[in-house]
Amino acid sequence: MAIATVDPSTGELLREFAPHTPAEVEERIAAADAAYRQLASTTFAERAEWMRAAAGILEAEVDQVAELITTEMGKTLATARYETLKSATGMRFFADNAERYLAPEQPVESSAVNASALSVRFDPIGVVLAVMPWNYPLWQTIRFAAPALMAGNTGLLKHASNVPQSALYLGDLFERGGFPHGSFQTLLIEGGAVAPLLDDRRIRAATLTGSVAAGASVAEAAGRNVKKTVLELGGTDVFIVLPTADIARAAELGVTARVQNSGQSCIASKRYYVHADVYDEFEAAFVAGMAATVAGDPRDAATTFGPLATERGRRDVQELVDDAVGKGATVLAGGEVPDAAGWFYPATVLAGVTPDMRIYREECFGPVACLYRVADLDEAIERSNDSDFGLSSSVWTNDPDEIVRLGREIDAGGVFVNGLTASFPGVPFGGVKDSGYGRELSAFGIREFTNAKTVWQA
Ligand code: NDP
Repeated sequence: MAIATVDPSTGELLREFAPHTPAEVEERIAAADAAYRQLASTTFAERAEWMRAAAGILEAEVDQVAELITTEMGKTLATARYETLKSATGMRFFADNAERYLAPEQPVESSAVNASALSVRFDPIGVVLAVMPWNYPLWQTIRFAAPALMAGNTGLLKHASNVPQSALYLGDLFERGGFPHGSFQTLLIEGGAVAPLLDDRRIRAATLTGSVAAGASVAEAAGRNVKKTVLELGGTDVFIVLPTADIARAAELGVTARVQNSGQSCIASKRYYVHADVYDEFEAAFVAGMAATVAGDPRDAATTFGPLATERGRRDVQELVDDAVGKGATVLAGGEVPDAAGWFYPATVLAGVTPDMRIYREECFGPVACLYRVADLDEAIERSNDSDFGLSSSVWTNDPDEIVRLGREIDAGGVFVNGLTASFPGVPFGGVKDSGYGRELSAFGIREFTNAKTVWQA
């Protein structure tokens, strides 16, 4: 994929970038390694000051950054602004909490291990390579970078090829806040150039957010080199509606859950399992809500969601819908590619989806919901777990026993009750099965790239 900014609203190529040469890549790895040695000896207070300064820069430049995000990947200007400010909040959160999260711990009494003193330190590990996707170009990167830098690691960002200007902005941001040169830099390289970087002894670990194929490729290269990875991959998250739920509210937020970010979110709800007793009521309200959304100009405040980010992305979505319809699925809303410039795709609802259809199992990265009628809670849970993915879930019920069962039995990294799945700086985020492993955010996330080092004293 060429490294270029192409406006998804028009399909127009705006700017193309030459990949970094091997010498330019080497220069950045060397700078990251040198910065690590420097950063590891700074205090939390120093790093927090630089992190807060970088957050302040981001907030001051929110209009410019939001415009860049909208231009490169098509989300609405309002949601691009929200993402930018959320990223700054996340930076401040780790500035405030990193020292507490990484405070040395005493796992048992010293006397229990014949020591006079015992502690576990959480030290940085070095240069971490971050392979990031285009769907939340800022937030996905910041949620790695803020904890990693606060822990004393340095980062090399390989961003998606369709968001190069966002990548270059991020590559300067932390140094502008005061971090030493080399602490966080962008490598303009293509996906295929990533795996060989894991052979470099200076790069100690990698994190990737994106497709299963890309994650497996990076994990394979890291595994060969005995290096740690954190993977945040796709999802086919469920949205379960049970009879005691507030059906109108569930239907309203069910629409948001599916069309947020034009449906291009790993934690967007994709499979809707609705109890037979409330199915008809939910379907009517949900389909009406989906049909009322406006896929259009991302700079217009009346737009619900913008175009899909890439032409290939839209083709993938349409292929999944065509495959399902060809095998007998019913289209309750949307389903047709509009005859206009840009990579727009309407909010779409499918019913009658069966296991022989690709969309039954595959992740659809666009605003397409599959509605299923289920007989009871047991069937909802069983069908939810019959998936290769397990990222998160949104469940709607006011029955306390059902809430306990769903929390325990849904096979995913999150269960959100009567609300949308979301990421918060202080709450762990990640999945099971093909959705990946490891956690981002919170104390769990910041510790992923640290060395839990035992210091035992006789
Ligand atoms: P990719 O997984 O291809 O891209 C994500 C990142 O991985 C990009 O930086 C990409 O670089 C890089 N990459 C791609 N292939 C490799 C590789 N072999 N080795 C190392 N890095 C690689 O996602 P796409 O944008 O192509 O989207 C495809 C599907 O992935 C979506 O339909 C969705 O299912 C899933 N996805 C999930 C996301 C999530 O949030 N979990 C985010 C994005 C996608 P480059 O751009 O240069 O190829």
